Amino acid sequence: MGFCRNFYYFWLRKKNNPMVQQIIFIVVTIIAFGILAWSFSRVFRIIKMLKNPYPILPLGPRIKRFLSNGIFQKRILRFPFAGILHALVFWGFLMILFGSFEMLLDGLFGTDRIFLFLGPVYDFFMASGDIFGLIIAIAVIVFLVRRFFHLVKRFNGVEMTHKSHLDANFALTLILILMVSLLLMNTSFVAMGGTEGYFPVGKILAKTFFASTSVATLNSIYHINWWIHILTIFLFMNYLPYSKHFHVFMSLPNVFFSRMTPLTKMYNMERVTKEVKLMLSGNAFDQPADEDPQEIERFGMKDVQDGTWKNYTDSLTCTQCGRCTSVCPANLTGKLLSPRKIVMNYRARMTEIMGNLLKEGKTYQDNRSLLGDYITKEELWACTTCNACAQECPLNIDHPSIILEMRRYLVMEESSAPAPINTMFSNTENNGAPWQYPPHERIKWAEELYINLNSI
Ligand code: SF4
Ligand code: SF4
Repeated sequence: MGFCRNFYYFWLRKKNNPMVQQIIFIVVTIIAFGILAWSFSRVFRIIKMLKNPYPILPLGPRIKRFLSNGIFQKRILRFPFAGILHALVFWGFLMILFGSFEMLLDGLFGTDRIFLFLGPVYDFFMASGDIFGLIIAIAVIVFLVRRFFHLVKRFNGVEMTHKSHLDANFALTLILILMVSLLLMNTSFVAMGGTEGYFPVGKILAKTFFASTSVATLNSIYHINWWIHILTIFLFMNYLPYSKHFHVFMSLPNVFFSRMTPLTKMYNMERVTKEVKLMLSGNAFDQPADEDPQEIERFGMKDVQDGTWKNYTDSLTCTQCGRCTSVCPANLTGKLLSPRKIVMNYRARMTEIMGNLLKEGKTYQDNRSLLGDYITKEELWACTTCNACAQECPLNIDHPSIILEMRRYLVMEESSAPAPINTMFSNTENNGAPWQYPPHERIKWAEELYINLNSI
């Protein structure tokens, strides 16, 4: 109590030392946003370094998908219980953002409820934030209980280390602190007789818990929670880029930029296409070499630098929910493959070399790679390319594109494929078809069926 009182007198009393508070707030805000900008600048520099996945235009279908999967949460709502809770948390965050933005401006300019002039619109946002604060707090408690008591099978797996669970629980705890401080702020404000804005939950809680609390105590509760709330926002937003909860920032852009072409459709490499066309045209040897050997693109993906920026943003967006792995036929039949692990491994490897990539550029090598040190050939060849993982992912993450590009590397650069696939390649090369016999023998199977083969 003594600590709280001192804290209150030194930091919180707006009327007595507004200037000091404002200066402290401005400094803290600059530090918080400075660190956030630094984290994002690193991510953007990596995105710029990686190649483009596919054309972004046309925008129409993208906007449609963004609205349905992003804003209206269509995919996550396929899961009745967890889906509805997640969607409510997402929509709640959007509503609460308004109040958080107002707090930021109030802190920076020394104002009090700067958006009050919006009248009924202000009341609407305040009431929504208040109601969603309670809903999110309940949802987060449910999420924590599910994780704590291991109630959901898909949260387990070889890739789900102790650190992954700790990260999830820490981020959820921060969200809970955010919501509890928001509710305490609203409740103490209403209990003090504050009339600006409308707080239905705060009103009920004030009557229930703070009916006989003194104004001075309520004032302390209000200001302490104001600071707890805003400082937790600063901490949370700076923790996110290093957490699985980075999807709070990444999910909407990732859904917007998700793949519109059929899943597992492989893209031809421009350079290979050009070379084949030249060979077919018969004048390949007349063409000057137009590429710098340093710049020559690798066939497929051996390490994260060979991926596209979409592979990278996919890995940053993954919530580790495990829905992809829970439907993967390879995983379900006991194979090593887990699509969640593929995406998580991509991020882990990028995190490992990110600093050096930013310093030395895309050609940085450390004698380790995504293939081999993180993902094995066995995992890659276990994939049936059924696309169930990508269909199931609520955030439109495209796992097979990583798997197929790594297979492309194995086949084209290391000539390393399972024996049946190598046989198929040889047959295609020699016979023009995947079978073991030459084209003129293909119809032999019908010889004893009394069919006039000459009529075919
Ligand atoms: S595409 Fe591959 S990784 Fe994805 S679900 Fe099918 S088998 Fe599993
Ligand atoms: S890739 Fe998608 S479905 Fe799989 S764990 Fe990540 S968010 Fe969940």
